[in-house]
Amino acid sequence: MSAITSVRITQWGVGHGGFHTQSIDVKGERVHVVYDCGSSDSARRVEDAADEYARSIAGERVERLVLSHFDDDHINGLRYLADAFRKNDVTVGRIVAPLLTPLDRLVLALASEGDRSLRRLILEPEAVLGEEFGAEIQLVAGNDLGPVNNAPLGSDSDSTGRRVRGRVDGGFDVNEDAGTPSLVWEVVPYVYPAISNERGRYWSRLCEKLPDLSDVGVPSNADVSMVLTEHIKVARETRPNSRKSDWTNFSSITLYSGPTGPSTVGWIHAPRGRPIAGAIGWLGTGDSRYGQKRTVDAMSNALGLHRLKNVGVVGAPHHGSAKNSSAHFWSQLPNVMVATFHASGRHGHPTIQAMRQAADSGAAVVPVNDRSYEQCAVTLR
Ligand SMILES: [Zn+2]
Repeated sequence: MSAITSVRITQWGVGHGGFHTQSIDVKGERVHVVYDCGSSDSARRVEDAADEYARSIAGERVERLVLSHFDDDHINGLRYLADAFRKNDVTVGRIVAPLLTPLDRLVLALASEGDRSLRRLILEPEAVLGEEFGAEIQLVAGNDLGPVNNAPLGSDSDSTGRRVRGRVDGGFDVNEDAGTPSLVWEVVPYVYPAISNERGRYWSRLCEKLPDLSDVGVPSNADVSMVLTEHIKVARETRPNSRKSDWTNFSSITLYSGPTGPSTVGWIHAPRGRPIAGAIGWLGTGDSRYGQKRTVDAMSNALGLHRLKNVGVVGAPHHGSAKNSSAHFWSQLPNVMVATFHASGRHGHPTIQAMRQAADSGAAVVPVNDRSYEQCAVTLR
Protein backbone atom coordinates (compact mmCIF):
# COMPACT_ATOMS: atom_id res chain seq x y z
CA MET A 1 0.00 0.00 0.00
CA SER A 2 1.14 3.51 -0.71
CA ALA A 3 2.63 5.67 2.02
CA ILE A 4 0.52 8.53 0.68
CA THR A 5 -3.02 8.28 1.91
CA SER A 6 -4.57 11.50 0.69
CA VAL A 7 -3.80 14.76 -1.05
CA ARG A 8 -5.89 17.89 -0.63
CA ILE A 9 -5.45 20.48 -3.35
CA THR A 10 -7.04 23.89 -2.85
CA GLN A 11 -7.15 26.66 -5.39
CA TRP A 12 -8.42 29.68 -3.49
CA GLY A 13 -10.74 32.01 -5.34
CA VAL A 14 -8.89 35.30 -5.19
CA GLY A 15 -9.83 36.77 -8.55
CA HIS A 16 -7.12 37.36 -11.12
CA GLY A 17 -4.07 35.89 -9.41
CA GLY A 18 -3.21 32.74 -7.59
CA PHE A 19 -3.20 31.21 -4.15
CA HIS A 20 -2.75 27.47 -4.14
CA THR A 21 -2.23 25.15 -1.20
CA GLN A 22 -1.90 21.45 -0.80
CA SER A 23 -1.63 18.96 2.03
CA ILE A 24 -0.20 15.58 1.35
CA ASP A 25 -0.96 12.93 3.96
CA VAL A 26 2.00 10.65 4.29
CA LYS A 27 1.34 7.92 6.84
CA GLY A 28 -0.58 10.26 9.09
CA GLU A 29 1.84 13.16 8.75
CA ARG A 30 0.75 16.16 6.73
CA VAL A 31 3.18 17.77 4.31
CA HIS A 32 2.16 21.28 3.20
CA VAL A 33 3.03 23.04 -0.04
CA VAL A 34 1.99 26.56 -1.09
CA TYR A 35 2.28 28.01 -4.60
CA ASP A 36 1.83 31.78 -5.07
CA CYS A 37 -0.25 34.16 -3.00
CA GLY A 38 -1.63 37.24 -4.69
CA SER A 39 -4.42 38.88 -6.64
CA SER A 40 -4.66 41.93 -8.81
CA ASP A 41 -8.30 42.61 -8.06
CA SER A 42 -9.19 41.19 -4.70
CA ALA A 43 -6.73 41.95 -1.89
CA ARG A 44 -9.47 41.33 0.65
CA ARG A 45 -10.10 37.81 -0.67
CA VAL A 46 -6.39 37.00 -0.44
CA GLU A 47 -6.23 38.24 3.12
CA ASP A 48 -9.26 36.18 4.14
CA ALA A 49 -7.98 33.10 2.32
CA ALA A 50 -4.52 33.40 3.88
CA ASP A 51 -6.14 33.70 7.29
CA GLU A 52 -8.43 30.72 6.81
CA TYR A 53 -5.57 28.62 5.47
CA ALA A 54 -3.18 29.51 8.32
CA ARG A 55 -5.84 28.68 10.92
CA SER A 56 -6.42 25.30 9.29
CA ILE A 57 -2.75 24.33 9.71
CA ALA A 58 -2.01 26.11 13.01
CA GLY A 59 1.20 24.93 14.63
CA GLU A 60 2.34 23.01 11.55
CA ARG A 61 5.11 23.59 9.03
CA VAL A 62 4.82 24.44 5.34
CA GLU A 63 7.59 22.45 3.69
CA ARG A 64 7.75 24.53 0.50
CA LEU A 65 6.42 27.96 -0.38
CA VAL A 66 7.00 28.37 -4.11
CA LEU A 67 6.62 31.68 -5.94
CA SER A 68 6.08 31.20 -9.65
CA HIS A 69 7.32 34.72 -10.43
CA PHE A 70 7.31 38.26 -9.11
CA ASP A 71 4.26 39.78 -10.78
CA ASP A 72 2.03 41.55 -8.26
CA ASP A 73 -0.90 39.19 -8.77
CA HIS A 74 1.23 36.25 -7.59
CA ILE A 75 3.03 37.81 -4.63
CA ASN A 76 1.04 40.71 -3.20
CA GLY A 77 -0.71 38.48 -0.68
CA LEU A 78 2.52 37.26 0.89
CA ARG A 79 2.43 39.92 3.58
CA TYR A 80 -0.99 38.67 4.71
CA LEU A 81 0.24 35.11 4.57
CA ALA A 82 3.30 35.95 6.70
CA ASP A 83 1.05 37.70 9.24
CA ALA A 84 -1.41 34.84 9.34
CA PHE A 85 1.43 32.33 9.74
CA ARG A 86 2.87 34.31 12.67
CA LYS A 87 -0.51 34.46 14.40
CA ASN A 88 -1.03 30.74 13.99
CA ASP A 89 2.50 29.47 14.67
CA VAL A 90 2.95 28.17 11.16
CA THR A 91 6.58 27.90 10.07
CA VAL A 92 8.01 27.63 6.55
CA GLY A 93 10.84 25.28 5.62
CA ARG A 94 12.00 26.67 2.32
CA ILE A 95 10.88 29.37 -0.10
CA VAL A 96 11.62 28.74 -3.78
CA ALA A 97 11.48 31.52 -6.40
CA PRO A 98 13.05 32.27 -9.78
CA LEU A 99 16.52 33.80 -9.76
CA LEU A 100 16.57 37.13 -11.59
CA THR A 101 19.48 39.36 -12.48
CA PRO A 102 19.65 42.72 -10.69
CA LEU A 103 18.50 44.36 -13.90
CA ASP A 104 15.53 42.00 -14.22
CA ARG A 105 14.56 42.88 -10.69
CA LEU A 106 14.84 46.54 -11.34
CA VAL A 107 12.65 46.47 -14.42
CA LEU A 108 10.08 44.31 -12.67
CA ALA A 109 10.01 46.60 -9.68
CA LEU A 110 9.47 49.55 -11.95
CA ALA A 111 6.64 47.81 -13.74
CA SER A 112 5.04 46.74 -10.48
CA GLU A 113 1.80 48.44 -9.61
CA GLY A 114 2.40 47.61 -5.98
CA ASP A 115 3.54 49.81 -3.15
CA ARG A 116 7.07 50.30 -1.84
CA SER A 117 7.13 47.13 0.21
CA LEU A 118 6.26 45.05 -2.83
CA ARG A 119 9.00 46.72 -4.83
CA ARG A 120 11.45 45.96 -2.08
CA LEU A 121 10.38 42.32 -2.20
CA ILE A 122 11.10 42.22 -5.95
CA LEU A 123 14.48 43.91 -5.53
CA GLU A 124 15.63 42.03 -2.45
CA PRO A 125 13.68 38.78 -2.31
CA GLU A 126 16.17 36.99 -0.07
CA ALA A 127 16.14 39.73 2.56
CA VAL A 128 12.41 40.43 2.53
CA LEU A 129 11.23 36.83 2.40
CA GLY A 130 13.78 35.88 5.04
CA GLU A 131 12.50 38.62 7.36
CA GLU A 132 8.84 37.84 6.73
CA PHE A 133 8.92 34.07 6.94
CA GLY A 134 12.20 33.19 8.64
CA ALA A 135 12.72 30.49 6.02
CA GLU A 136 15.57 29.26 3.91
CA ILE A 137 15.42 30.88 0.42
CA GLN A 138 16.31 29.07 -2.79
CA LEU A 139 16.41 31.08 -6.01
CA VAL A 140 16.29 28.88 -9.10
CA ALA A 141 17.98 29.98 -12.33
CA GLY A 142 16.63 28.96 -15.69
CA ASN A 143 19.17 26.27 -16.26
CA ASP A 144 19.99 25.38 -12.65
CA LEU A 145 18.36 22.03 -12.80
CA GLY A 146 19.04 20.94 -16.35
CA PRO A 147 17.08 17.91 -17.27
CA VAL A 148 15.67 17.20 -13.87
CA ASN A 149 15.93 13.47 -14.07
CA ASN A 150 15.01 11.68 -17.20
CA ALA A 151 15.57 8.19 -15.92
CA PRO A 152 12.48 6.38 -14.74
CA LEU A 153 12.12 7.12 -11.07
CA GLY A 154 13.34 4.45 -8.79
CA SER A 155 16.21 3.52 -11.06
CA ASP A 156 18.48 6.34 -9.97
CA SER A 157 21.71 4.99 -8.62
CA ASP A 158 25.18 6.22 -7.82
CA SER A 159 28.46 4.73 -9.11
CA THR A 160 28.30 1.89 -6.59
CA GLY A 161 24.85 0.93 -7.78
CA ARG A 162 23.31 2.06 -4.49
CA ARG A 163 19.99 3.80 -4.90
CA VAL A 164 20.23 7.54 -4.36
CA ARG A 165 17.66 10.24 -3.91
CA GLY A 166 18.40 11.81 -7.25
CA ARG A 167 18.89 15.40 -8.26
CA VAL A 168 15.36 16.54 -7.72
CA ASP A 169 14.54 19.35 -5.41
CA GLY A 170 12.19 19.02 -2.53
CA GLY A 171 11.66 15.33 -2.19
CA PHE A 172 10.23 14.17 1.07
CA ASP A 173 11.76 11.16 2.73
CA VAL A 174 9.41 8.82 4.41
CA ASN A 175 10.17 5.76 6.45
CA GLU A 176 8.16 3.33 4.49
CA ASP A 177 9.43 0.19 6.09
CA ALA A 178 11.17 0.62 9.39
CA GLY A 179 14.54 2.22 8.76
CA THR A 180 14.37 2.36 4.98
CA PRO A 181 13.74 5.89 3.84
CA SER A 182 12.31 6.22 0.40
CA LEU A 183 11.21 9.18 -1.60
CA VAL A 184 7.47 9.02 -2.12
CA TRP A 185 6.52 12.58 -3.06
CA GLU A 186 8.54 15.31 -4.73
CA VAL A 187 8.19 19.00 -5.42
CA VAL A 188 10.18 19.89 -8.52
CA PRO A 189 10.51 23.44 -9.86
CA TYR A 190 11.30 24.07 -13.48
CA VAL A 191 12.18 27.42 -15.07
CA TYR A 192 12.38 27.61 -18.85
CA PRO A 193 16.11 28.12 -19.48
CA ALA A 194 16.03 29.81 -22.86
CA ILE A 195 14.01 32.76 -21.67
CA SER A 196 17.18 34.42 -20.44
CA ASN A 197 18.94 33.55 -23.71
CA GLU A 198 16.08 34.94 -25.71
CA ARG A 199 16.31 38.28 -24.03
CA GLY A 200 20.10 38.26 -23.93
CA ARG A 201 20.33 40.62 -26.86
CA TYR A 202 17.89 42.97 -25.27
CA TRP A 203 19.67 43.02 -21.96
CA SER A 204 23.07 43.52 -23.51
CA ARG A 205 21.76 46.52 -25.39
CA LEU A 206 20.22 47.91 -22.26
CA CYS A 207 23.42 47.27 -20.33
CA GLU A 208 25.44 49.08 -22.95
CA LYS A 209 23.33 52.09 -22.28
CA LEU A 210 23.44 51.68 -18.56
CA PRO A 211 27.00 50.61 -17.81
CA ASP A 212 26.89 51.43 -14.13
CA LEU A 213 23.70 49.61 -13.33
CA SER A 214 24.47 46.02 -14.15
CA ASP A 215 25.33 45.22 -10.52
CA VAL A 216 22.79 47.45 -8.90
CA GLY A 217 21.10 46.27 -5.75
CA VAL A 218 18.77 48.95 -4.50
CA PRO A 219 18.76 51.85 -6.92
CA SER A 220 18.41 55.51 -6.16
CA ASN A 221 15.41 57.39 -7.50
CA ALA A 222 17.53 58.86 -10.27
CA ASP A 223 18.66 55.38 -11.32
CA VAL A 224 15.08 54.21 -11.32
CA SER A 225 13.81 56.85 -13.66
CA MET A 226 16.80 56.45 -15.97
CA VAL A 227 16.31 52.69 -16.22
CA LEU A 228 12.61 53.05 -16.79
CA THR A 229 13.16 55.51 -19.61
CA GLU A 230 15.83 53.39 -21.24
CA HIS A 231 13.87 50.21 -20.73
CA ILE A 232 10.84 51.47 -22.58
CA LYS A 233 13.01 52.96 -25.34
CA VAL A 234 15.04 49.82 -25.91
CA ALA A 235 12.00 47.57 -25.66
CA ARG A 236 10.19 49.57 -28.30
CA GLU A 237 13.20 49.54 -30.64
CA THR A 238 13.76 45.81 -30.20
CA ARG A 239 10.16 44.75 -30.43
CA PRO A 240 7.99 47.51 -31.81
CA ASN A 241 4.73 45.66 -31.19
CA SER A 242 5.43 44.45 -27.69
CA ARG A 243 3.54 45.59 -24.67
CA LYS A 244 5.04 46.42 -21.31
CA SER A 245 4.01 43.06 -19.93
CA ASP A 246 5.99 41.26 -22.63
CA TRP A 247 9.12 42.58 -21.03
CA THR A 248 8.34 41.99 -17.44
CA ASN A 249 6.71 38.60 -17.40
CA PHE A 250 9.78 36.48 -17.99
CA SER A 251 10.50 33.56 -15.78
CA SER A 252 7.73 31.53 -14.24
CA ILE A 253 8.39 28.45 -12.17
CA THR A 254 6.41 25.49 -13.37
CA LEU A 255 5.99 23.23 -10.39
CA TYR A 256 5.47 19.50 -10.31
CA SER A 257 4.16 18.27 -7.00
CA GLY A 258 3.44 14.61 -7.15
CA PRO A 259 4.39 11.06 -6.41
CA THR A 260 7.81 9.75 -7.32
CA GLY A 261 6.48 6.38 -8.31
CA PRO A 262 5.08 5.63 -11.72
CA SER A 263 1.38 6.14 -12.36
CA THR A 264 -0.05 6.35 -8.88
CA VAL A 265 -3.82 6.43 -9.12
CA GLY A 266 -6.40 7.63 -6.62
CA TRP A 267 -9.93 8.95 -6.39
CA ILE A 268 -10.16 12.55 -7.43
CA HIS A 269 -13.02 14.47 -5.86
CA ALA A 270 -13.25 17.32 -8.30
CA PRO A 271 -15.27 20.39 -7.33
CA ARG A 272 -18.24 19.29 -9.40
CA GLY A 273 -19.44 15.88 -10.32
CA ARG A 274 -18.68 12.38 -9.11
CA PRO A 275 -15.30 11.21 -7.90
CA ILE A 276 -13.14 9.97 -10.75
CA ALA A 277 -10.18 7.66 -10.64
CA GLY A 278 -7.05 9.33 -11.90
CA ALA A 279 -3.46 10.47 -11.52
CA ILE A 280 -2.79 12.21 -8.20
CA GLY A 281 0.01 14.66 -9.08
CA TRP A 282 -0.36 18.39 -9.66
CA LEU A 283 1.28 20.83 -12.07
CA GLY A 284 1.34 24.60 -11.50
CA THR A 285 2.33 26.75 -14.46
CA GLY A 286 2.29 30.33 -13.18
CA ASP A 287 2.45 32.64 -16.17
CA SER A 288 4.69 30.30 -18.20
CA ARG A 289 4.60 30.64 -21.97
CA TYR A 290 3.26 27.35 -23.16
CA GLY A 291 1.79 28.74 -26.34
CA GLN A 292 5.12 27.96 -27.98
CA LYS A 293 6.12 24.43 -28.87
CA ARG A 294 9.75 24.84 -27.87
CA THR A 295 8.96 26.05 -24.36
CA VAL A 296 6.54 23.14 -23.90
CA ASP A 297 9.13 20.66 -25.17
CA ALA A 298 11.84 22.09 -22.92
CA MET A 299 9.58 21.72 -19.88
CA SER A 300 8.51 18.27 -20.92
CA ASN A 301 12.12 17.13 -21.41
CA ALA A 302 13.22 18.55 -18.10
CA LEU A 303 10.41 17.21 -15.97
CA GLY A 304 10.15 13.96 -17.91
CA LEU A 305 7.13 12.10 -19.17
CA HIS A 306 7.13 9.87 -16.10
CA ARG A 307 6.23 12.93 -14.02
CA LEU A 308 3.82 14.47 -16.51
CA LYS A 309 1.94 11.17 -16.65
CA ASN A 310 1.34 11.53 -12.93
CA VAL A 311 -0.35 14.89 -13.33
CA GLY A 312 -4.10 14.71 -12.75
CA VAL A 313 -4.74 18.33 -11.80
CA VAL A 314 -3.28 21.40 -13.55
CA GLY A 315 -3.35 25.11 -12.89
CA ALA A 316 -3.74 26.46 -16.44
CA PRO A 317 -0.97 28.80 -17.69
CA HIS A 318 -1.37 32.54 -17.19
CA HIS A 319 -4.98 32.61 -16.02
CA GLY A 320 -6.16 31.06 -19.28
CA SER A 321 -4.50 33.53 -21.63
CA ALA A 322 -4.72 32.26 -25.22
CA LYS A 323 -1.08 33.18 -25.85
CA ASN A 324 0.26 31.01 -23.04
CA SER A 325 -1.61 27.86 -23.90
CA SER A 326 -1.58 25.40 -26.79
CA ALA A 327 -2.96 22.00 -27.70
CA HIS A 328 0.65 20.84 -27.61
CA PHE A 329 0.95 21.81 -23.95
CA TRP A 330 -2.13 19.80 -23.01
CA SER A 331 -0.96 16.87 -25.11
CA GLN A 332 1.99 16.46 -22.75
CA LEU A 333 -0.39 15.66 -19.92
CA PRO A 334 -2.00 12.39 -20.96
CA ASN A 335 -3.80 11.81 -17.65
CA VAL A 336 -5.04 15.27 -16.80
CA MET A 337 -8.48 15.25 -15.17
CA VAL A 338 -9.03 18.74 -13.82
CA ALA A 339 -7.79 22.12 -15.09
CA THR A 340 -8.26 25.17 -12.88
CA PHE A 341 -8.34 28.69 -14.38
CA HIS A 342 -7.57 31.48 -11.92
CA ALA A 343 -9.22 34.48 -13.47
CA SER A 344 -12.20 36.72 -13.07
CA GLY A 345 -12.50 38.25 -16.52
CA ARG A 346 -9.63 40.70 -16.23
CA HIS A 347 -7.67 41.00 -19.51
CA GLY A 348 -10.30 38.67 -20.99
CA HIS A 349 -8.94 35.74 -18.97
CA PRO A 350 -9.75 32.91 -19.10
CA THR A 351 -10.14 32.76 -22.87
CA ILE A 352 -12.47 30.35 -24.63
CA GLN A 353 -9.55 29.01 -26.69
CA ALA A 354 -7.50 28.05 -23.64
CA MET A 355 -10.48 26.43 -21.91
CA ARG A 356 -11.37 24.53 -25.06
CA GLN A 357 -7.84 23.15 -25.38
CA ALA A 358 -8.00 21.92 -21.80
CA ALA A 359 -11.43 20.39 -22.37
CA ASP A 360 -10.26 18.73 -25.59
CA SER A 361 -7.50 17.06 -23.64
CA GLY A 362 -10.12 15.49 -21.39
CA ALA A 363 -9.85 17.81 -18.41
CA ALA A 364 -12.83 19.11 -16.48
CA VAL A 365 -12.54 22.89 -16.78
CA VAL A 366 -12.89 24.64 -13.43
CA PRO A 367 -12.83 28.44 -13.44
CA VAL A 368 -11.80 29.69 -10.02
CA ASN A 369 -12.91 33.27 -9.52
CA ASP A 370 -13.24 35.68 -6.63
CA ARG A 371 -16.58 34.37 -5.45
CA SER A 372 -15.63 30.88 -4.42
CA TYR A 373 -12.72 28.63 -3.90
CA GLU A 374 -12.36 25.19 -5.27
CA GLN A 375 -11.09 22.18 -3.48
CA CYS A 376 -9.91 19.13 -5.23
CA ALA A 377 -9.39 16.25 -2.86
CA VAL A 378 -7.51 13.18 -3.92
CA THR A 379 -7.77 10.10 -1.78
CA LEU A 380 -6.10 6.73 -1.97
CA ARG A 381 -7.44 3.66 -0.31
ZN1 LIG B 1 -0.40 36.33 -13.35
